[in-house]
Amino acid sequence: MEPSENHNESTHSSAVRRFPKRHLVAAGVLGVALVVSTFLPPTDTVEPKRQSQTVELEIKPEIQQLLPPVAEPITEEIIPQIDWHKERVVSGDNLSLIFQRAGLSDRILFEFMAGHPESNSLKRIHPGHELEFHIEDGRLMALRYRQDRLTSQLFKRESSDKFSYEREVLQPDTVLAYRQATINDSLFLSAQRAQMDADMIMELANIFGWDIDFGLDIRKGDHFKVLYEERFLDGEKIGNGNILAAEFTNQKQTFKAVRYEDSNGNTHYYTPEGKSMRKAFLRAPLDFRRISSNFNPRRLHPISKTIKPHRGTDYAASQGTPVWSSGDGKVIASSYSKSNGNYVVIQHGNNIQTKYLHLHKRHVKTGQRVKQKQQIGTVGSTGYSTAPHLHYEFLLDGVHRNPRTILEKLPKARSVADAELQRFYSATQPLLASLESYHQQILLTRTQQE
Ligand SMILES: [Zn+2]
Repeated sequence: MEPSENHNESTHSSAVRRFPKRHLVAAGVLGVALVVSTFLPPTDTVEPKRQSQTVELEIKPEIQQLLPPVAEPITEEIIPQIDWHKERVVSGDNLSLIFQRAGLSDRILFEFMAGHPESNSLKRIHPGHELEFHIEDGRLMALRYRQDRLTSQLFKRESSDKFSYEREVLQPDTVLAYRQATINDSLFLSAQRAQMDADMIMELANIFGWDIDFGLDIRKGDHFKVLYEERFLDGEKIGNGNILAAEFTNQKQTFKAVRYEDSNGNTHYYTPEGKSMRKAFLRAPLDFRRISSNFNPRRLHPISKTIKPHRGTDYAASQGTPVWSSGDGKVIASSYSKSNGNYVVIQHGNNIQTKYLHLHKRHVKTGQRVKQKQQIGTVGSTGYSTAPHLHYEFLLDGVHRNPRTILEKLPKARSVADAELQRFYSATQPLLASLESYHQQILLTRTQQE
């Protein structure tokens, strides 16, 4: 009844024969993983107890033959095997139905619910949750309520009408992983080929979203490297953890970021020098995934039929796409005009203004304070506009500027405190070194194959 656990076994032999090239690359990566994980500083939450075992299991079947043979574990489980009967909560389920499927009557359900006050938590079952029953001679001896892979509650029968209760929280093993990609078509397609999931691409875009306009600035040949955590439970991957270090080269300009938890327990991404990746202004005032790239801002002006000199950035996106304030500030205009349609102007400090035109709806009022990334309206096609798009302008001292070329002149980001810089360096330099050594290892693997 556990097809997923055997899945790797059954696909093993065919995968070895096919031997896709990307796995050769992954093998090089794993070779380094064993080395770098030993010199990383231990972190209290993730230092796995079963490190050696985990690394072993992380190795995908396809690449096993490239690595030195690993000895079989000699420890034997001596815990008596309990036969658990598993029931998964499905849509429309209730406890009575689940108990019935396990062969238990409503009387036993009632007895169980009265057996310990914490059994009330079972009233919050959701599809996907699991109930495991240990039944002996028709008697419910224990019940485990599993909310997810890591958390469960265990009830054990103590007497005829009492159950004991304990909460079980498993700590996943964390291993380092690395991906790199060069963008040939789109960020998403390239990242998918590098076996990165959509969540990680979004996280990457969030880290660099103050420096790179992921909607408009991405070009063929841009490339990136990511060092991140993968979380394993009993050898099975249960998801990704955090991005620890990353590098993104956009139009030949390289940005680096590293994750750091400061002595107050706050975690942010910084440049290798300790400057915050967060800046006073977002590069794009909307979610880059909603921007359609084949949009020609040099179209003829719909009224005058000429190409007007264009002083801003046009983002084509469907009507209703949320528009954010690109920085903290104060709304100095939220209004309508014949050419701009619904528009918003925000004042940031003394000398910077941002303008958002052709909105479908405005969500802020004149005089209102706004925070960075706060929604101020939605994309529309009001005013002189032929298709839904956001016209965004950035003005410094009253002059239109290209946000891409003005980064250096903008207010400086917060940095790691001077007193903490040594701590910052010792925590982050190993991560940046890993990022580079993984990359070198891949280059080496490639050279050997040629
Ligand atoms: Zn425009």
